[in-house]
Amino acid sequence: MAAMCSIIGYVGEKNLGQVLLDGLSRMEYRGYDSAGISGLKDGKFVLLKRLGRVKNLADAVDSSMNLGNVGIGHTRWATHGKVSVRNAHPQISCNGIFSIVHNGVIENYESIKKYLVKQGYKFSSDTDTEVLVNLIEYHYNKEREPKNKFLTSVQKALLHVVGTYGIAVLSKDNPDEIVVARKSSPLLIGVGDGEMFVASDACAIVTHTKNVVYLNDGELARITRSDIFITTMKNKEVNAIKCELDWQTEDVSLKGYEHFMLKEICEQPQSLENAMRGRFSDDMSTSKFGGLQLSPHELRQIDRILFCACGTAWHACLVAEYFIEKYARIPVEVEYSSEFRYRNMPLEKNTLVFIVSQSGETLDSLAALQEAKRKGYKTLAITNVVGSTIARESEGGIYQHSGPEIGVAASKTFTAQICIAAMLALYFGRLHDMSFDEGAAFVQALLQLPEKVAQVLEKKDEIRLIAEKYAHYEDMLFLGRQSMFPIALEGALKLKEISYIHAEGYPAAEMKHGLIALVSEKCPCLFLATQKDILGKTVSNIREVKARNARVVAIVSEEDATSFGYIDDVIAIPDVHDAIRPIVATIPLQLFAYYIAKIRGCDIDKPRNLAKSVTVE
Ligand code: GLU
Repeated sequence: MAAMCSIIGYVGEKNLGQVLLDGLSRMEYRGYDSAGISGLKDGKFVLLKRLGRVKNLADAVDSSMNLGNVGIGHTRWATHGKVSVRNAHPQISCNGIFSIVHNGVIENYESIKKYLVKQGYKFSSDTDTEVLVNLIEYHYNKEREPKNKFLTSVQKALLHVVGTYGIAVLSKDNPDEIVVARKSSPLLIGVGDGEMFVASDACAIVTHTKNVVYLNDGELARITRSDIFITTMKNKEVNAIKCELDWQTEDVSLKGYEHFMLKEICEQPQSLENAMRGRFSDDMSTSKFGGLQLSPHELRQIDRILFCACGTAWHACLVAEYFIEKYARIPVEVEYSSEFRYRNMPLEKNTLVFIVSQSGETLDSLAALQEAKRKGYKTLAITNVVGSTIARESEGGIYQHSGPEIGVAASKTFTAQICIAAMLALYFGRLHDMSFDEGAAFVQALLQLPEKVAQVLEKKDEIRLIAEKYAHYEDMLFLGRQSMFPIALEGALKLKEISYIHAEGYPAAEMKHGLIALVSEKCPCLFLATQKDILGKTVSNIREVKARNARVVAIVSEEDATSFGYIDDVIAIPDVHDAIRPIVATIPLQLFAYYIAKIRGCDIDKPRNLAKSVTVE
């Protein structure tokens, strides 16, 4: 199941409706089916919910409308109960004391509901969320102690809950407070001047404040305009630690581009430079990382590396496998996080585990991290979001510094992950047998990366014209060998995600063992034919599909471009060092998928059924 939607909350003097709607629309990229807000005014909840886009909700809110000074909002990705206004959040408790928004799933909602029904509670939705808000009300009504009654009731209710949640709750009896809690679902508090924000993603509030407090799993907080009180489920008071966001407001706007995805594809020269900044040794023969928390001596002892990730990040890990095995000669395993967490994989003593997650909140990857830690392995994270859960829970790691990625389909964060993988291969290589000269050449190749990527981006129009010829097909195959195989997988994934064309990535030669049955004039093939040492082999595979009438588009090195006269469409990329080729070859595939999706009229930044960070299992 993939899901997750957004939470926003505000207490302060600003126009409540505007703050909530603006926050929700900044998180729209997450994918959702309905939206709602509630404010508390004159002791009553004002509730507005609509199906579909946040825009529909915004149309229902008059900007002069006074919703009060405290409120919460939500975009829902339905898991329990169909998509309907009734089931949208906020959900109000049976006797109207509480209003709640919830991301996640209450797994034991049925038994709780049965109990509450027996106690006389009435339900007006099919959601698990309404069960939770009624359970809060149930405890509230039982609670004698007036002090902290609101927070305590939320805590007591959550003690009975099995599942995952990020919640924000309002209470009619405590009109100046928001109570929040989280378990396996992100939540942060934005600290303003006489105002506070709550959000499931920092991008929702970065225009208001850059000071944030991240809530940890198992923590609850009571938030007023001027104060944050954090405690744990076990009543241990926690100090609120403020962090500063390193994002700019302009990062979350389109800056003249038609889509965030195109903007983010075009930002890659910059994001790659950011991934490398300050990360080379003074003698320019190796890389260095500030946050590994392991000494060179400890790292030299590592004799096996395991990467865990999901989706696009998993493809980046496959490239890391090629790089690290080739340049550092350390055996590497790559595993899906969701498989690793239940697989009980035997690992050797000196294994280092890397968890790779753009958002740093991917639930399966967080679980893989926790499983690896439980088994006593050293764990490092590669993530784009500073202060994210995976970043905080791992022992050390490397930040991507890609800036926020709003398009749901990953682009710049994928290439940044590969760039970091290349730098890791260099680092480990230099700890072992890689010479100074090889290292220096590797560093020079990496330094050229932004410029080489910019050169490919200049071919945008050429790639758009080629995309036009492929936009009407319903199936497509992506083929490549060695380090180009994961790029083929990623190219196919991009096409699937944003254009809804069925696509598969395969190792080029493996195609003969089954996939070739699909090849016909109805199923074009895209080949990554960029590596000189195995070019002859890839050419044979191209011939095999041409013989079966498939249309072929090939990504080739500029130097070879003229020798492919028999191929229908050729996209030439600069001939570069092996260590940066997978990144340079990715660019045309991103543009190809983007233009096909555009021609097909798809909702590129918010593809159907997908969400940016998958925080449910
Ligand atoms: N499980 C809740 C529902 O279906 C929340 C879903 C979500 O995370 O948006 O209403």
